[in-house]
Amino acid sequence: NKVKKYFPLKKSFFSNRSGQVKAVDEVSFTIFKGETFGLVGESGCGKSTLSRVIMRLTDADSGEIKFENTDLLKLKGEELRKQRGKFQMVFQKPFESLNPRRTVGQIIGAPFEIHGIASGVDKESRVKRLLELVGLSPQYINRYPHEFSGGQRQRIGIARAIALNPQLVVCDEAVSALDVSIQSQILNLLGDLQKEFGLTYLFISHNLSVVKHMSSRIAVMYLGKIVEIADAEELYANASHPYTKALLSAIPQPDPDFNKERIILSGDVPSPVNPPSGCRFCTRCQEAMPICREIAPEFVPLNDKHAVACHLYAETPAAQAVAAGMAD
Ligand code: SF4
Ligand code: MG
Repeated sequence: NKVKKYFPLKKSFFSNRSGQVKAVDEVSFTIFKGETFGLVGESGCGKSTLSRVIMRLTDADSGEIKFENTDLLKLKGEELRKQRGKFQMVFQKPFESLNPRRTVGQIIGAPFEIHGIASGVDKESRVKRLLELVGLSPQYINRYPHEFSGGQRQRIGIARAIALNPQLVVCDEAVSALDVSIQSQILNLLGDLQKEFGLTYLFISHNLSVVKHMSSRIAVMYLGKIVEIADAEELYANASHPYTKALLSAIPQPDPDFNKERIILSGDVPSPVNPPSGCRFCTRCQEAMPICREIAPEFVPLNDKHAVACHLYAETPAAQAVAAGMAD
């Protein structure tokens, strides 16, 4: 078995309004070089907290993030500063993430200066090349963010993110704020850049149909936990967790791949302050069994590309009977 055991990530925080929030609770997955790993879930499920932990914008409570045999969470000082160049982020709100008082040239050129890679004319020619790569005219180099449309601003954010040949680009709802027609342009751009430079993406979205077109593998997150993880095609063809099935059936446009019975997700997402015991989805799951309220389900591999955390697939006789439709 080539699967290595890592310490899963945990992150909780204290909110005055609600108390202790378990935002990320024992999450573990591997992203392979050159792939797009999709992470899906409703808002508040912990996706953004997870991305902030990976970017070292906030500290994890426990766990590790291994990259080339180093635990990134242990890096400090100069080593951490170097790592920050290798991990880049494309944000949801392209306007808020660009400093309005800086020109495009200053914004995209900043990583070169911060990391002592290029300055002056050299920096300028690198910035112009990046502008071309993201489909913008190099002549825009002295313009300010407010002179651009939302889609153009996101192209600027992408140029900044890829400037230093990053090892990982985290795209957190990178197209959610854009019009649908612009979304596909930006997704195409991300795909083209990935082909050209072998980029690795962690692509985070609440929208399964956006993730579908981008991802080689997908993890579905619910209330701080990953509930299903699979190759993208496998996930869409054989979604197994009741939550994933519900998400898929909620996709509005008729899509032949999602031609499954419609499952309505009822009830609100429970608070991560006081998550349900046992399976966290049990308060909304139409297939919940008594065991689901007692015991949190472990991950069960369905095949070598697919694992699910749900008692329906556990190897207990009672759970198997339910899975086979023989339960009372
Ligand atoms: Fe539903 Fe139980 Fe599976 Fe949770 S473990 S998803 S409650 S069937
Ligand atoms: Mg979010």
